[in-house]
Amino acid sequence: MSSRGRPRTNKEPKRKAVRLRLCARMNAGRVMEPYTIMEGLIATVRKDLSDIKIGIVWHTGWRPDADGIRTMGKAIKNSETERQRTDIDWDIQISEPVWGALDARGKERLIFHELEHIQIVHDKDGGVMLDDKSRVVTRAMAIDGARGAILFWLDNIKLAGNADARRSLAARRDQMKEQVAEQLQNVIGQQAEEFAEDPAPGSDESDEEL
Ligand SMILES: [Zn+2]
Repeated sequence: MSSRGRPRTNKEPKRKAVRLRLCARMNAGRVMEPYTIMEGLIATVRKDLSDIKIGIVWHTGWRPDADGIRTMGKAIKNSETERQRTDIDWDIQISEPVWGALDARGKERLIFHELEHIQIVHDKDGGVMLDDKSRVVTRAMAIDGARGAILFWLDNIKLAGNADARRSLAARRDQMKEQVAEQLQNVIGQQAEEFAEDPAPGSDESDEEL
């Protein structure tokens, strides 16, 4: 018997909390805020994701880790059966309490950050890879790298509940900066090699990009 509320009887088993709730794109004739932001980003800075179907899911909030850091959101690639059943390729889960605490720019950075986890797979010739159902192939980018991530981590630090969490986040951010720098170095190195191997410009007539 708990000290608060009614004692539970055998007929009322304790219920497991459901922490996820689908966020419908439309509510009362209006596009919901996370979708407005996501669609704005896809229309401008993430046009490569135009053909990927992404759903928003509210999360009631993750438990803090040992340092007191709470997850703000997650990008999750749906399984093949989920994709066929729902027509949604990826879910972005957003912590509802975090969302309520972020300002407009922070919200945009959070969605941008989650979208960064979704990467389009290209074939050897640089074209978008399709599967045999003519869907764009994507993969999850595990490392929080590259564009926008540093700013996102500043929001994360701002919202962190205690000094331990802030210190730990700051250390992770600094570590990430190094990883991003390293990744960039690798990409630049690869491009330099590919450039050296490339035939002279203009020799390939299919080279007609705008
Ligand atoms: Zn992330």
